[in-house]
Amino acid sequence: IIKFDQVVKRFGALTVLDHLDFNVQRGEKVTIIGPSGSGKSTVLRILMTLESISEGIVSVDGEPLWHEERNGRLVNASEAHLRKMRVQLGMVFQQFNLFPHMSVRRNITEGPVKVLGMSRQDARERAEELLEMVGLANQADKYPHQLSGGQQQRVGIARALAMRPKVMLFDEPTSALDPELVGEVLNVIGALAEEHDLTMLLVTHEMRFAREVSDRVCFFDKGKIKEQGTPDELFTDPKEERTREFLKAVL
Ligand code: ATP
Ligand code: MG
Repeated sequence: IIKFDQVVKRFGALTVLDHLDFNVQRGEKVTIIGPSGSGKSTVLRILMTLESISEGIVSVDGEPLWHEERNGRLVNASEAHLRKMRVQLGMVFQQFNLFPHMSVRRNITEGPVKVLGMSRQDARERAEELLEMVGLANQADKYPHQLSGGQQQRVGIARALAMRPKVMLFDEPTSALDPELVGEVLNVIGALAEEHDLTMLLVTHEMRFAREVSDRVCFFDKGKIKEQGTPDELFTDPKEERTREFLKAVL
């Protein structure tokens, strides 16, 4: 459902993604691990159209993201095309990024109402269901500052899910949390991972969690996939010296 085909991303002289080939199948749960600066967040930011690409093709559900077909040729995507593609993905960031001046309910209903054209009533019902799912029933009238970091992050997950994304992207969703709040957020993500149909792409430093929830783990180094495999293959029997080094430092 996600395909990076020889994707290059440069910031000036710095090459952050170096002819990256990377795929995620529908329903697959994929974790990206790797050293700081290896391009992990850049992959997610490109998918959310927060960052453009320098070369190559990225596609989502068979359709190019950063290009569109016009008169039988691929040209750079228009803002309208990017908008259309962007709503197919939901992202949860390290920083919670809730709208501070909106209630929890409003944070969750705003997108479905404004972007998807859902009725307020339907959006509110869906918000209740989602809040229940992330363990925050009865918190709909609170404001973000009245919630703990872990609760805010769970609202962030509910908000992303409310848009019924084809793929959920998580970028270090627990790394801004106090240690005692990490578990509650990982539990929610872990429960989502049980959903057969949902496609998940997750960047995390929580190796134990990655091992539990992923179908496949990709080790990024210098803008490429250095090694990938099932959690067992990668964590217990890494083939590459670079992977072993990294795992030794983080495990
Ligand atoms: P971390 O584990 O620290 O989050 P990462 O693998 O997510 O690292 P990226 O955020 O993808 O790394 O960044 C890759 C490289 O690109 C880094 O060297 C970073 O400094 C650089 N970079 C990212 N965004 C920009 C930008 N807007 N302008 C210039 N350089 C950038
Ligand atoms: Mg990052």
